[in-house]
Amino acid sequence: MADNLKVTERMKNWGYIAIFCCLLLAGAHSFAAADPAVITDIQYWLAPDHVQTIIFFDRAVQPSYHTRSNPDRFVLEIANTKDLFGDRSLDVNDVTLQRIRVQRLETGTMQVVFDLSRPAEATVQVLPGLNDQSDRVIVNLFDQVAQEQAQEERIEQQQAVQELKEKQHHIVVLDPGHGGHDPGATSANGLKEKDLVLDFAKRIKAILEQTAPNVKVYLTRDRDYFLPLPKRTEIAKEYEADLFISLHVNANTSKKAQGFSVYTLSEKASDDAAALLAEQENASDILFGGAETPLPLKNDQMLTFVLADLSMTASLQHSLEFGRISLNTALANLKKYGIAREGLKRANFVVLRSAEMPAVLVEACYISNNREEKLLDQKDFRHNIAASIANSIKEYFAEIGETRQTPQMAAVYQQEAKLDISNEPGDQQRMHVVRNGESLSLIAEKYHIDLAQLRQANQLASADMIYVGQQLWIP
Ligand SMILES: [Zn+2]
Repeated sequence: MADNLKVTERMKNWGYIAIFCCLLLAGAHSFAAADPAVITDIQYWLAPDHVQTIIFFDRAVQPSYHTRSNPDRFVLEIANTKDLFGDRSLDVNDVTLQRIRVQRLETGTMQVVFDLSRPAEATVQVLPGLNDQSDRVIVNLFDQVAQEQAQEERIEQQQAVQELKEKQHHIVVLDPGHGGHDPGATSANGLKEKDLVLDFAKRIKAILEQTAPNVKVYLTRDRDYFLPLPKRTEIAKEYEADLFISLHVNANTSKKAQGFSVYTLSEKASDDAAALLAEQENASDILFGGAETPLPLKNDQMLTFVLADLSMTASLQHSLEFGRISLNTALANLKKYGIAREGLKRANFVVLRSAEMPAVLVEACYISNNREEKLLDQKDFRHNIAASIANSIKEYFAEIGETRQTPQMAAVYQQEAKLDISNEPGDQQRMHVVRNGESLSLIAEKYHIDLAQLRQANQLASADMIYVGQQLWIP
């Protein structure tokens, strides 16, 4: 049965770098003391087709692992380590995993034994301690039977999606951000972003099921487990979503920060706070092990091509239109709570990058703001947020169903979005739509302006990255 266990390890380059830095920082302590590493916590999360176990350490470790049969076990070994809680056994009682046993051998080596209920495929990932995250070892046990079942369900799902399309129904994929060992933002009172956004998603789904028979809602996750960022848009693509909404709750080091905002994808952020927020949200995969290789966070070139595609298909305009509707609806709905309009903003979010459909990221108030945190803790308030997003979805589909968007409308939305995010002079300018064969310098010449000015006005990182149909602001 041991053959059923295929083991792979993904050790990231930056993991080594981080470990090296840790050694430098820990300095003399690490070298002088041969005191054992300590397991500080063990957590597990049940996803539909796998169990994820996270073992937390007080320092960087290098585990080895092997499989045993009769009965099936997966064994992780870490030399010179002890458990804060001593030898122990955690009952999981899942279809894949019965229990996790922690035992220290006489040699000082720590064994973490996964007693399997049935064959599973294991992956081991070593994550460095970054930011406020400690060093972790992640063990994913993929249940082969569950994976086969999931494959069958996927085929059934595809048929269901085709039927919905034939009936001209609209498909929305709601993406509750974070999950599992990635809590997202956490408040001083222990309120977690991952729980709040899952609650929003379930409420929006329930409201639409009752009030919008022509809208079908799917969730990227319907329970508490970690989902890597690219997987989220992959799910939206599988469902052929007409609209993708990633749900989040904001946090800021300044407790004064407050309000409701909606984001669309952009190479450049609309302001510094938006840029910082995108960095925080994008860090999820790096901090929690979603990415197999470090993400190209600043890959402007790739993003420009994504934007080109988006613009061609009018997805970006539709994203802006949904953003406008949802922001206005939410603020009207939340007026009685005194929620401020933070705006329709833009930033470089990984989760929006690969969405091929209109896609927005909602930041529903600040968990770091005392007043808004108290509100977020209230069912009524959460229900109001969910109802406003549900209403926005209905309004959006009604609108785009009636009037297929014209280029003039797109220009209005872009103008509105731009005005919403900055009051810099120069926003009320002419716009040029790039035609075949035109280059930036040609356009600059045409309007008798400086090439550098033109680039700056359009926040273009590279002169060559314009495309047919792109709208350029003429300063
Ligand atoms: Zn978030």
